[in-house]
Amino acid sequence: MNLRELDRAHVIHPHAVVGRPEDPVVWVRGDGARLWDADGNEYVDGTCGLWQCAVGHGRVELAEAAAAQMRELEFYASFWNFANEPSIRLAARIAQLAPAGLEHVFFTNGGSEGVETAIKLVRLAWHAQGRPDRNVVLSRKSAYHGVGSASLAATGIPPLKEGFGPLAPGFVHLSTPTSSTTVDELVAELEQTIETIGPERIAAMIGEPVLGVGGMIPPPEGYWPRVQEVLRAHGILLVVDEIVTAYGRTGHWFASERYGLDPDAIVTAKALTSGYVPMGAVLVHDRLVGMLEGTQFRHGFTYNGHPVGAAVALANLAIIEREDLLGRAVEIGARMLDRLQPAQELDAVAEVRGVGAMLGVELAADRDSGPVARAALGKGVVVRASGQKIVMSPPLVISEEDADRIVDVLLGELAAL
Ligand code: PLP
Repeated sequence: MNLRELDRAHVIHPHAVVGRPEDPVVWVRGDGARLWDADGNEYVDGTCGLWQCAVGHGRVELAEAAAAQMRELEFYASFWNFANEPSIRLAARIAQLAPAGLEHVFFTNGGSEGVETAIKLVRLAWHAQGRPDRNVVLSRKSAYHGVGSASLAATGIPPLKEGFGPLAPGFVHLSTPTSSTTVDELVAELEQTIETIGPERIAAMIGEPVLGVGGMIPPPEGYWPRVQEVLRAHGILLVVDEIVTAYGRTGHWFASERYGLDPDAIVTAKALTSGYVPMGAVLVHDRLVGMLEGTQFRHGFTYNGHPVGAAVALANLAIIEREDLLGRAVEIGARMLDRLQPAQELDAVAEVRGVGAMLGVELAADRDSGPVARAALGKGVVVRASGQKIVMSPPLVISEEDADRIVDVLLGELAAL
């Protein structure tokens, strides 16, 4: 059997229809923003796969960092008082890059585990304060927070939850902040919701600074500071899901800086290692640690603080800094957004939007973005279909030529709708 047949026979792919395997694209190599499949076809990567590869594909430096660490110590647990040098250095480096007060780091293998961790932390913090009934978590419609029982409960995209119930209880979803909503309306809804539930029952609010999977939806101007003000007034904690936005994608190390946020916890993953090794990190503020003082955190994943992941993350963060990929995210994102503007004139397109190197094209109400993404793939350009939206998040190292190719192919497909 060839690779494709073996894949169809044995691999269950995320988000695929069970028992109806599609013909796979078998990726074999990557370099910068280019990818090659097993048939030798070349592609421009407009999504990083799942928005993780800030530094691009094929970085030998990261392979060497992993190999060097594996030769020294491949892995040992980080439970209790066990530690390893790369994860200690990485925690200190993240704390140095993070907004003030986020001095503490809990490592994970990825995003969902980080959200599960953050939700447990905020609920435990109130429990430790003698307030176990303060456990409701506010989230938003269109949010994506992962696939665990609590992170999926926090997610606000109903089809993703279908058939998996019962999920963790205690999650309430507010309206999606879009360009057609006003900050006053959204804040009034938040205040009303807090009043209805009772602030004494609400542990925290969780939110992505820019809704990613939901369609690259930037919040209306001034949204986050106002939301933060209301939460503060009621003592409600704020967890910011920066799994997509952290480590450069919006032109800042953390999008929380961009939106004037002072979170109690920030969840990160993806670009922490650019995806070369699965690893995430939950950043925890002194305030939250203060609430938890003296409480045992009975929670941990076998691979917490993996030394190979941490060694790769340190080398990856060094590349992001050295090559000024924060500046590059702004530059390349602005270029793509500008060149995508003509799509706005098409009947098939409702809105073109973006922040940094996160870009989205929302199709008109009755349109499906799947055929657009499939047609682009046939032309050697990878973009992602998400319901009625096309979303893009290229490697931050992408050249202008490759970025233009993505936009040109996409404009062609949109015009043909
Ligand atoms: N939160 C956000 C905002 C995400 O975009 C994702 C994944 O795309 C997750 C959480 C879940 O992360 P993971 O797939 O690593 O579990």
